[in-house]
Amino acid sequence: MDIEFTEEQEILRASVGKLLAEVCPQEYVQKCDTEAVPPREAYNSLAEKGWLGLILPEEYGGSDGSTVDLAILLEEAGRHYEELAVWMFRSMVWGAYALLCHGSEKQKSEFLPRIGSGEITVCFGLTEPGSGSDATALTTFAEKKNDHYLINGQKVFTSGMDISDYCLLVARTTKSNRQQEGITNFFIDTKTPGIEIRKIETLGHRGIGTTQVFYNDVKIPLDSVLGEVDNGWKAADQYLWYERLSLSAARYGAACSAFDYALEYAKGREQFGKPIGKFQAISHKLADMKVMLEVSKVLIYKFADQVGKGKATRHDAAILKLYTSEAYKTISDLGLQIYGGYGYCMEYPMQRFFRDSRLSVIGAGSSEIQRNIIAKSLGL
Ligand SMILES: Cc1cc2nc3c(=O)[nH]c(=O)nc-3n(C[C@H](O)[C@H](O)[C@H](O)COP(=O)(O)OP(=O)(O)OC[C@H]3O[C@@H](n4cnc5c(N)ncnc54)[C@H](O)[C@@H]3O)c2cc1C
Repeated sequence: MDIEFTEEQEILRASVGKLLAEVCPQEYVQKCDTEAVPPREAYNSLAEKGWLGLILPEEYGGSDGSTVDLAILLEEAGRHYEELAVWMFRSMVWGAYALLCHGSEKQKSEFLPRIGSGEITVCFGLTEPGSGSDATALTTFAEKKNDHYLINGQKVFTSGMDISDYCLLVARTTKSNRQQEGITNFFIDTKTPGIEIRKIETLGHRGIGTTQVFYNDVKIPLDSVLGEVDNGWKAADQYLWYERLSLSAARYGAACSAFDYALEYAKGREQFGKPIGKFQAISHKLADMKVMLEVSKVLIYKFADQVGKGKATRHDAAILKLYTSEAYKTISDLGLQIYGGYGYCMEYPMQRFFRDSRLSVIGAGSSEIQRNIIAKSLGL
């Protein structure tokens, strides 16, 4: 199944793919993953070439790219290293897109060009120990004083907080019986006194990983508010389209890469006198993997087009998130099986896809939550 891309989009894909092949080879990815270090050199190289500013308007140093362009960029980055693609997504969506939607002129001019140039990176602090899937049950409180807010509370799984310059922090500003009300978004400096960050050891996504963050009397200026006070959940919901699209594209890219490795291995590895890909048990796995990739691709680029036209629905976003993340998880699992014992060894890449993909069906709205959304839209 071919998706029609414009000539400019084909050029975009080819040029970012070429750059990534140079700055993000597999040995580098392996090193970042095993040593748990962020792919900073690759990130900086992409920033230098202007890719981090893809969706920014020209007045902020960007290239005014579309949602389809964004999906192509993150798909290509995901093919090389999902952790790199997710890092780009955080700055481009929780940073640039959120500021573009709701930032004041001062916030936009101060931060957007710096996000685009890679000078600053951004992370996202929503989840708390008591509020995961039930995200709006959050209790971290930002109390308004005369000339500042005072933040107290605890976040968990703020990925990349330890290496980011700013955090899009979601906090409660008014106690309300309706959970979605009284929530405000803040764009805060991660180095503000009173913030304590502890790294969490995780199964996958080890290059950057995730953290626990404690806010103890953290004093931030009043103009750290992003958008409307007490009406932040509605805004965060708007960013969701870009989040669903970006993560699906990055994971589709990674799934394509896992598939390519598995296919090559099935053609090269011989047992019982022939390549294992000649056994139907293996070739059918690869056929199933290919079907999952094709469906993922159609869903992603259809959704990208809908987001660009302002026609995306919650139902479509849930189908996209559910399908692409489950497909990535299954493809990595089947890929590992095709690799046999070597799939289980750390020196081969398949185990990384297997570990990284496990997050896709948990984070940013688990598969169960996506099924709930789809079921609700069916009137159930
Ligand atoms: C590595 C990693 C990185 C992350 N990065 C970030 C980040 O950068 N920023 C951020 O804010 N958060 C981040 N998260 C948090 C992530 O989005 C949450 O883990 C996720 O939303 C699930 O919340 P929970 O872990 O509290 O699980 P819970 O909500 O406690 O869920 C536990 C289980 O119960 C199921 N469940 C819960 N409610 C229902 C229901 N109503 N119906 C059916 N099943 C249900 C879930 O699907 C899951 O299987 C990250 C998480 C991880 C592990």
